[in-house]
Amino acid sequence: SFRALVTDKDAAGVVQSSVQQLDDARLPEGNVTVDIDWAGLNYKDGLVLTGAGGLVRNYPHVAGIDFAGIVRDSADPRYVAGQPVVLTGWRVGEAHWGGYAERARVNADWLVPLPDGLSTRDAMIVGTAGLTAMLSINRLEAAGLTPAAGDVLVTGAAGGVGSIATAMLGRLGYDVTALSGRPQHAEALLALGASAVMSRDEFLAAPDKPLESARWAAAIDSVGGKVLGKLLKQVNYGGAVAALGNAGGIGLETNVLPFILRGVTLIGIDSVMQPYATRVAAWSRIVELFDPAVYGSLVHEIGLEDLPAAAKDIIAGNVRGRLLVKPR
Ligand code: NAP
Repeated sequence: SFRALVTDKDAAGVVQSSVQQLDDARLPEGNVTVDIDWAGLNYKDGLVLTGAGGLVRNYPHVAGIDFAGIVRDSADPRYVAGQPVVLTGWRVGEAHWGGYAERARVNADWLVPLPDGLSTRDAMIVGTAGLTAMLSINRLEAAGLTPAAGDVLVTGAAGGVGSIATAMLGRLGYDVTALSGRPQHAEALLALGASAVMSRDEFLAAPDKPLESARWAAAIDSVGGKVLGKLLKQVNYGGAVAALGNAGGIGLETNVLPFILRGVTLIGIDSVMQPYATRVAAWSRIVELFDPAVYGSLVHEIGLEDLPAAAKDIIAGNVRGRLLVKPR
């Protein structure tokens, strides 16, 4: 049997979670069983655990959209017992039981062998957040971005995706402006690799114009809503923006001038359904670029029983960096 955080919905529609001991027979269908070392807490996990996003159809559910661990047994020839693996996406933790347990059973197609040079803990410091940051940088560079092009704006910079994007861009030699609603974390963001920190309130308070002074070669946006709408109006001629998140809302209030007068490109980023080859390539570049030691002070460890409270915190925008979950 194994320990898991079981999330259920009662007759009144209230979603609640509790730690339970489950029999192995309860594991969902799949051809690889993994003993989980670490899982992550992401914004989407916050939505699942609080029931806010309507992301889960079938209860009881085990949440956790990413995890890293050791293969326990495999009916698929690509994986053998004892092999370290990482999983992100594929709607695991939403449509399929996820990482908030000592054990998971998944489809081999969803796994990636743990890249050489990363521990399972390092892999979950990176997690879905770091993979998404890497995919964003890769797409921006494919669109022509280089460090010489100018400053890059990262929004939601104190969060998971934003902080790792800041660190990796800094390592690549980019001048990064970190936009954050929590200027108290400015020092940590500068230490991570940002060249400047900007307050979200000040950014939003500046008068709105149809087109504003151009100042960003590119942007990586976790926030959406008003922040994305405004930053698009400040992107340099020919620049590009990677839109990956909605922590500030799903709306997008802007106009077409940045596109038709400055040739700005808006790039959508999805980490969930990325094909295997793209994932493997992204993970190997992450190993080159991401130094878990630099990121150390932004990592906090919690247990399964701490997750319900942490879920509320991440939805409220109060989690800094990455929260790691140790199911044992
Ligand atoms: P996170 O750690 O909570 O980071 C989000 C950050 O956004 C917060 O730290 C905060 O940064 C800012 N924020 C929060 N609430 C806000 C609000 N109401 N208005 C403006 N800014 C706000 O979450 P995450 O795991 O990094 O995920 C970030 C976003 O990306 C989420 O929307 C998530 O669903 C999405 N995401 C998408 C993909 C994909 O595949 N496309 C993958 C991963 C995540 P500051 O305190 O610095 O302002």
